[in-house]
Order: sequence, then structure tokens, then C-alpha cells
Amino acid sequence: MVRRVILKISGEAFGRSGFDLKKINFIKEEIKSVIYEGIRLGIVIGAGNILRGRELVRRGFPLVSSDYIGMLGTLLNGAILKEVLIQDGIKADLFSPVYAEKIVRRYDPFIASKLLDEGIVVILAGGTGLPFVTTDTTAVLRTLELGGDIFLKATKVGGVYTEDPKKKRGVKFFKFIDYDEFIRRKLEVMDLTAVALAKEKRLKIIVYNFFKKGNTLLAIKGKTGTCIG
Ligand code: UDP
Repeated sequence: MVRRVILKISGEAFGRSGFDLKKINFIKEEIKSVIYEGIRLGIVIGAGNILRGRELVRRGFPLVSSDYIGMLGTLLNGAILKEVLIQDGIKADLFSPVYAEKIVRRYDPFIASKLLDEGIVVILAGGTGLPFVTTDTTAVLRTLELGGDIFLKATKVGGVYTEDPKKKRGVKFFKFIDYDEFIRRKLEVMDLTAVALAKEKRLKIIVYNFFKKGNTLLAIKGKTGTCIG
């Protein structure tokens, strides 16, 4: 029985560029459908709608500074999501290892875990607080640290395929794929560092289409998406 889940939502779910309130309300409704089932939910937030470190690197910025700026982007998404949830009467709190007093609390796994126990939605921004990795890796780490049963990776495709189904037709879908095969095929739907870490700790990852209404709950129940395990 899945009781505690960490969900990773890319910045793209917040808008193509910047913020789209309609999209954020969709995220909120998906969150509600999960917590109303009594499932404890932590959410790791990306920043693709604002900035990814590598976009700055491409323009000549140093990698470390670029990644820290990328992390700041996740704080904006996190603060907006928290506000949207609270305004709808959903209890939520926001943590980050890169924090901003008054807006974002300093991440503490023990406090975050206690809040999850109480049924509060815990939003985890700021990634790991370290450069060189992405929020996929953050999500694996947080799932392990906060005792999540599974890690849900929200994407815009149905799960893991032999190649990107948005770019190629007739690709094969995996209902299940083991960690080694995922890594060997260098599949791009998820960060390979994240999969390698999950493999070491035997953490199951579910990759699914987040943008279809009701799918997050279905993914938790094993009724949609791909299981990497
Ligand atoms: N980032 C980082 N360390 C982390 C997590 C994120 O440096 O632990 C930076 C990195 O530059 C990344 C950006 O934050 O590009 C936003 O995260 P991500 O690319 O994972 O966002 P998404 O693509 O999921 O929206």
C-alpha cells in the first residue's frame, strides 16, 4: 500500500515560459485528488519554465553560478504553488536548502517528515542545494530521506519508451523497465544520475503522463505509466 509519495513536477507544468495560472490550478486539483485519498505528498519542484542552469552555461556563464540561479527559479515556482494551495484551504509548507527568510523555510528533513505525517503538503524547492545535479536527482534523494514509498516522475509522455514518442513514431512502450536497462539505453526521460541512485537503494520510480486529469492518482495505484525498478 502506497502511503507516502514524492512527486517531481517540472517547471514546464507551471507554464511554457513564466506562469500560467490555469496550469497551476490543474496541478492543484491533481494534488487534491491525491491527498483526499489520505496519501501523504511531498513535491519536488523544477524550474524549466524560468531557467535551467545549462541555458546560462550555453550563453557563457560559469556552471556553478548558473546552477545556483537555476535553483532560485524553483523557489519562485514553489512559492507560487504554496500560495495557490493555501488559498484553496489546503495546508502546505515550502522548504529549500537555499532559503529566503519569510518566504521559504530552510529545509529540515525531520520537520518536513513530521509535517507529512500531519497531512500537510510539503513543497521541496531549491533542489539539493548543490550544483551539478537536477531536480530528478533531488527527488530520489528526498524520497529516500523522507521515507517515501515511491517516487513519481511527472512527464508529458505516457511513461518510458525506447525513444521520445514526441519525436518518433512507432516507438515501444515499457510497462516495466529495470534500472540497468534504462541506464544502458541512456533514455532521456529521466536523469541517469537519479536512476543510478534509485537502483542502489531499490527505490521504485513511476514515470507517467501528468497532464491527463486524474493520472497522478492512477500512477500511484500502478494503473498508468512505467515502473522503473
Ligand atoms: N539545480 C541544481 N541543483 C539541484 C537541482 C537543480 O543546480 O539539486 C539547478 C539546475 O541548474 C537545474 C535548475 O536548477 O537546471 C532547475 O532544475 P531542473 O532543470 O531539474 O528543472 P526542470 O527541468 O525539472 O523544470
